Amino acid sequence: MGEPRHLNTRAVHAGREDLTDLGLHAVPIDLSTTYPSRDMQGEADRLDLLTTGARDEGMPVYGRVGNPTVNRFEDALASLESCEAAVAFSSGMAALSACLLAVASAGKPHIVAVRPLYGTSDYLLESGLLGVTTSFVKPDEVAAAIRPDTGLVIVESPANPTLNEVDIRQLAKVCGDVPLLVDNTFATPVFQRPKELGAAIVLHSATKFLGGHGDVMAGVIACSEEFARGIRNVRYATGGNLHPLSGYLLLRGLSTLPIRMRAASDTARELAQRMTDHPAISAVYYPGLNPDRPIDQMEGGGSLVSFEVTGDPADVIGGVKLITPAVSLGSVDTLIQNPASISHHIMDADVRQGIGISDKLLRMSVGLEHVDDLWDDLVQTFSGMT
Ligand SMILES: *Cc1c(COP(=O)(O)O)cnc(C)c1O
Repeated sequence: MGEPRHLNTRAVHAGREDLTDLGLHAVPIDLSTTYPSRDMQGEADRLDLLTTGARDEGMPVYGRVGNPTVNRFEDALASLESCEAAVAFSSGMAALSACLLAVASAGKPHIVAVRPLYGTSDYLLESGLLGVTTSFVKPDEVAAAIRPDTGLVIVESPANPTLNEVDIRQLAKVCGDVPLLVDNTFATPVFQRPKELGAAIVLHSATKFLGGHGDVMAGVIACSEEFARGIRNVRYATGGNLHPLSGYLLLRGLSTLPIRMRAASDTARELAQRMTDHPAISAVYYPGLNPDRPIDQMEGGGSLVSFEVTGDPADVIGGVKLITPAVSLGSVDTLIQNPASISHHIMDADVRQGIGISDKLLRMSVGLEHVDDLWDDLVQTFSGMT
């Protein structure tokens, strides 16, 4: 029997297929940093192989080269994203950095990126910190911006924090041989699988929905085995590895990902709908809320809702009692933040405002609470505004 067809089933079983034969039910956590061997030549041969970026299939040599618990998470995520391989990192930013270093060191240091992007991703590209230069363009300008030394086209859809969607299928055609990297953190493979739409590389801040409980920091890239070799080699040489305990928690998070995403998405859609009718709210952004939406590539709207209030957004951040006023997203509890002061604060203020991130914008990541409790908590913060 091959892989199960349905994502819900793979979310629970991928990366754990051998457990029954091992006589285990829970995934084993391997905390070793080194792996003893009396076979000197064997170790040298293994290192020669592993440092080409090849995936280690037996015992690793050293924790920075690979870890069996982390490998299981990578296998599971690759399966959910319909990709050949996945490579895990210590954070979403470490994952993006590895991609940039891999293409730049292969002689393609020019990046084409579509805004908005997560604030730190934007900063990493704009600052040139890793030796890349970036052309920021609109989706219909991507073709013209691609040069012979372009290593990646980078896009987020839905984007953080405006929930703007880009037509991935269309963009992938325009990119031709240049790999299209889609940051799929907001949609997750439950609602959108960029590889199936033609993208080459899928990035996740696994800190968010994949972990799902606000207690793991991680990043992961799903891609071809060929691209994976390049970024494994960067990980080996620069050391942005995922800790095995985090690998364990991520696998555990993946098993409930489909039901968490669908439940939170239903609640978020209902809240977005209620907001459109509330006099204290001047704008609501939610994928699919607008019936003339041109693109239909997501199977659900997701759990993020962004909105603007007629009054002071500080009243909302300071006034919520049940909802947690905090940056980040994708947890079982609902979080709210003001992108201009936290998640996108590092960007130039004019650029930020120019791409639709006003100082008043609030971004809410809806969790698993009852919709009425969340609504009551929000509405009591609007009291002075209408
Ligand atoms: C949080 C986030 C990142 C960065 O991930 P970290 O795990 O915080 O390093 C990248 N992209 C998006 C869309 C994010 O929300």
